[in-house]
Amino acid sequence: MKKTKISKQTIKHLLTASVLIVSSCVNANVDTIIYAGQALIDPLEPSRSKQTLVIDGGKVAAVYDGYRTPQSLNAPNAKVYDLKDKYVMPGLIDMHVHLAFERNPAANPHQWVTEYATDQALRAIPNLSNTLEAGFTSVRDLGGPHKVIFALKRAVDNHRIIGPRIFAAGDFISATGGHGDLHGYRHDINQLVTGGLGICNGADDCRRAVRSVVKSGADVIKVTATGGVLSNTAAGVKQQLTDDELAAIVTTAHSLGRKVTAHAHGTEGINAAIKAGVNSIEHGSYLNKASIELFKQHGTYLVPTLLAGATVTEEAKSNPKMPAAIVDKVKQVAPVMKEAFQKALKHKINIAFGTDSGVSRHGTNAKEAELMVAYGMSEKQVLVSATVSAAKLLGQEHNLGRLNTGMNADIIALNKNPEHDIRALQQVPFVMKAGIVYKE
Ligand SMILES: [Zn+2]
Repeated sequence: MKKTKISKQTIKHLLTASVLIVSSCVNANVDTIIYAGQALIDPLEPSRSKQTLVIDGGKVAAVYDGYRTPQSLNAPNAKVYDLKDKYVMPGLIDMHVHLAFERNPAANPHQWVTEYATDQALRAIPNLSNTLEAGFTSVRDLGGPHKVIFALKRAVDNHRIIGPRIFAAGDFISATGGHGDLHGYRHDINQLVTGGLGICNGADDCRRAVRSVVKSGADVIKVTATGGVLSNTAAGVKQQLTDDELAAIVTTAHSLGRKVTAHAHGTEGINAAIKAGVNSIEHGSYLNKASIELFKQHGTYLVPTLLAGATVTEEAKSNPKMPAAIVDKVKQVAPVMKEAFQKALKHKINIAFGTDSGVSRHGTNAKEAELMVAYGMSEKQVLVSATVSAAKLLGQEHNLGRLNTGMNADIIALNKNPEHDIRALQQVPFVMKAGIVYKE
């Protein structure tokens, strides 16, 4: 390796410059000071009591032990939030939501064909605010029409509506007639309202589909590798895209700098998707021994979505209008999701928090955490899955999931300590995203 010579003089200049930068961040322009009674700065470490967090320009500028006065921080005009009786932690991250939808058994089942994308976007606005106010400051949206979800994302970015930071997939990549396509109507009607830019058949066509979806604005690619529970077709939950189609999808997405996540229930579909190189598996209901080996070998994440299983199980009992094809799949799949999660836990597979909200109500995302604990995960592991692990799977570990200096100021406060009772996540009295307070 070639060494670059740096003179002592240059080092001295660099040091002086960095001191100036640091002092200007921490002192002159301090926006906000938070006093945290208990603070989980890095979820991989123990929480600390009595911390002062300094927020500047939407980022964490400094964290101090003890409570520092604005005067001692040379910031007499800073806004101070006194959360001395609260548990302060990084904003939660949900890796599987559908902000453009909310399942409502009482709604007109033909809404799909009567509404414009604009109707859907307007109807979705409270889904976004409910999610943020529940403490979820970032979400990965895994499927919503591109005309709806990217408009919603832009409106949040431009502060026209209130919502979480969104990483969105847009249209699903799915086989014709697959889980991500439209079902339940006459063939010619299905053709008219078909599933979007991502419907593809054959490796070449699937490359085209990934490129189109990325062109439409996708941050991440969602592929429906197997059948799914809530599509109105008696097609089961087996593999729907072939091995060569999956390989083409992953290679194309990765070459465009996009991660891929696969909706997968059936064993062969899970295993084929991991072999093809997807970054995560959604649901993973029928994962087996071979799947566990593959998860570990490839470092693939599992996003369990236990809340979706619990929600559709309840609905199947109470909604007589649920189509028979869907009821059958609910009965088949929902009970095994718990076992899959427990196997993943036992074998220490990477797990990232995700709910499939939209199946359940937006803003109730933290109920997933209660299920994860009920099925054997420790409270601390759950907190890690919804912060550090989720951030890593997003490729945002340098911005999100922790509250160390330099991280985004996505901060929530809880009335109680979630390390003792995870239900504490279901009441979030304080929410800050990028240094802006949305709830206090
Ligand atoms: Zn989903």
